[in-house]
Amino acid sequence: MTDPGAGPARVVVVGAGVAGLLAAAAVAGDGRRTTLVEKDVLPDAPASRPGTPQDRHPHVLLHRGLLAAETVLPGLREDLRRAGAVPVDTGRLAWLGEQGWAPRSRQYEVLSATRPLVEHVLRTRVRALPGVVLRDGTRVDGLARGDDAAWHVHLADGATLAADLVVDASGRTSRLPVWLTALGLPEPRTQEVDARIGYASRAYALDRERVTTAGVVLLASPGRPVGGLALPVEDGRWLVGQVGVGEQRPGREPDAFLAGLAALQDPVLAELAAAAEPASDVAVHRRTANRRHAWERRGALPDEVLVVGDALCAFNPIYGQGVAVAALEAAALRAEVRRGWRPRRSARRLQRRFARTTALPWAIATGEDLRYPTVAGREGPVAALLGRWTRELGRLAAHGDTATQERVASVFHLMAPPLVLLHPRLLAAGLRARLRGYGTPVPRPQVLVPASSSRAADVTTRRS
Ligand SMILES: Cc1cc2nc3c(=O)[nH]c(=O)nc-3n(C[C@H](O)[C@H](O)[C@H](O)COP(=O)(O)OP(=O)(O)OC[C@H]3O[C@@H](n4cnc5c(N)ncnc54)[C@H](O)[C@@H]3O)c2cc1C
Repeated sequence: MTDPGAGPARVVVVGAGVAGLLAAAAVAGDGRRTTLVEKDVLPDAPASRPGTPQDRHPHVLLHRGLLAAETVLPGLREDLRRAGAVPVDTGRLAWLGEQGWAPRSRQYEVLSATRPLVEHVLRTRVRALPGVVLRDGTRVDGLARGDDAAWHVHLADGATLAADLVVDASGRTSRLPVWLTALGLPEPRTQEVDARIGYASRAYALDRERVTTAGVVLLASPGRPVGGLALPVEDGRWLVGQVGVGEQRPGREPDAFLAGLAALQDPVLAELAAAAEPASDVAVHRRTANRRHAWERRGALPDEVLVVGDALCAFNPIYGQGVAVAALEAAALRAEVRRGWRPRRSARRLQRRFARTTALPWAIATGEDLRYPTVAGREGPVAALLGRWTRELGRLAAHGDTATQERVASVFHLMAPPLVLLHPRLLAAGLRARLRGYGTPVPRPQVLVPASSSRAADVTTRRS
């Protein structure tokens, strides 16, 4: 055990969502007392809860996020798998982008599970860590600097927790700006890009054998501002989601949900829903704006206060980046604690690092969203050029260029910097296509196996 004097001895984490749990895992140990304060009463089993209204919608954990999460909670992938999370090979998704169907390619494994299951597994792991206390059913109401120079975290029940480090992981609705302005600090600089995207999702029961692909994604685009997805989750279920922009945001009426699926750019999701049994009602969610606070700026945050997860930077969820970014932040926090925490300097350095971590996912999410007429503001010239080039690469991929598809995917999975999209091979492929034509488009994949053939396949397997 190392000396707790090497790091903050008392840490309070506000919010026990994914970012809070991962941050607690990152700092736990070394004789430290880590208190997670959560306003919801937390369930003992995977279950939806009011503090995370997004938890009935599909959640994938990007490969990069999984690698980062493993550094703070080794063996997490295996735990999630054992609990039922489904590994999804993203190169085997039926993926319809703006330029057509993507080819099958070598990509990455992501884990797909319901959000309550992911949280449950994380919670179980974090509760078991030394020195971690989870105070649920308790809201944090504010912060103040005590006479002892420690932070005093005020709870709604009147209690106060002393802390040498406070981590705000309270999500999109974080009240930290209000708490800090009450202490005389300036409001943080905040940027928002809101394409007004709405989600509607429903769980279905469908035999995995009936679907030949790893899942389905139909991407919305400014020309066609509706889309959808279907991903397998635990217990033989599928989550089928629909998205729409502005006036096209879907509602919670089951018949309208089915009609919405049928009106998408391809009928595959409607066919999938028709072949399956509904296993829940329709959940809707509309709080999807990209929003980030410039907490890394000098003087924005007091010493020994950190902000992580959606409280720092929330993304349009369509790209599935939020949990991965929270995991990357937790990995950086752990590295800093292990390296030797330096009062005042470590927290500020980390907050600057978090800002750099969010930069690429922010550029990906807002670059697309700024193309929608529902959004005020436009991309800068460099971002617009890169966006146009990425769409050109998408067009090459939709005409069978798997190497290009793999490069683009590496950036979207946060596994490579955007510079790889300017590789000479890609530039040459783009030029060649312009001169000689793009070739044959990737054909529409067959997604659903007719019920009779899947049963026949079953019988054959059992006989052999
Ligand atoms: C429709 C939708 C789909 C998504 N799909 C994906 C996906 O596929 N992949 C992905 O990576 N991300 C996805 N996301 C994003 C992901 O949900 C978030 O990025 C992630 O949950 C952020 O975690 P967080 O812990 O920062 O915030 P949250 O999960 O929102 O947790 C915040 C916690 O803080 C608690 N809290 C708030 N205020 C207080 C207080 N004052 N005192 C005590 N507790 C408090 C809340 O109750 C909550 O438990 C999706 C989001 C949406 C909306």
